Amino acid sequence: MLNIVLFGPPGAGKGTQSNQLIEKYGLIHLSTGDIFRANIKGKTKLGVLAKGFIDKGQLVPDEVTINLLKSEAQKVENPKGFIFDGFPRTNKQAVALDDFLLEIGTSITQMISLDVDEEELKSRLELRAKDSGRVDDADPAVIQNRINVYRQETAPVKDYYSGQDKWMKIDGQGTIEAITQRLFDAIDSL
Ligand code: AMP
Repeated sequence: MLNIVLFGPPGAGKGTQSNQLIEKYGLIHLSTGDIFRANIKGKTKLGVLAKGFIDKGQLVPDEVTINLLKSEAQKVENPKGFIFDGFPRTNKQAVALDDFLLEIGTSITQMISLDVDEEELKSRLELRAKDSGRVDDADPAVIQNRINVYRQETAPVKDYYSGQDKWMKIDGQGTIEAITQRLFDAIDSL
């Protein structure tokens, strides 16, 4: 199986690029942010709980997020592989993901970071706020909080994978097509 963690701060382009990768490699896209948003829309119990954290730019607790990820992954029959988008965001989630993949007889192939500078991230999020309807994109204070949480809790997850020799970064700036091509080249070289 090909299991990719697409990594980067808010606005790095993880969702956009995941959509380009799923078709070419036949991967299942697992975005915890998308699953939370679908639950918020459907007004489920999970959605109500998650909304309290998401609207403030905080992480949803590990326990909830890990269980959600596992149950979504288990729904898929005979996957060719997964693209994890927005998960893992803490070291605890990374360990839980390794344990889960081991249970189903596979492992992470590679974490790929999309490298984008902070000015560019902020201007992308501002643009996205205009048409995404995402509450957490609309408020500069919430965006700043998400960036701070990323720096403190999520960025160290990179070290977890580089410790396993499973980390690389690509330039996440330029046109969508150029970035996609860099990702294709990176994945084909694995
Ligand atoms: P995203 O769409 O990946 O930017 O996620 C939007 C929001 O959902 C994040 O700011 C968090 O509040 C929450 N979220 C998504 N994925 C996770 C995760 N792996 N762990 C904790 N919270 C998450």
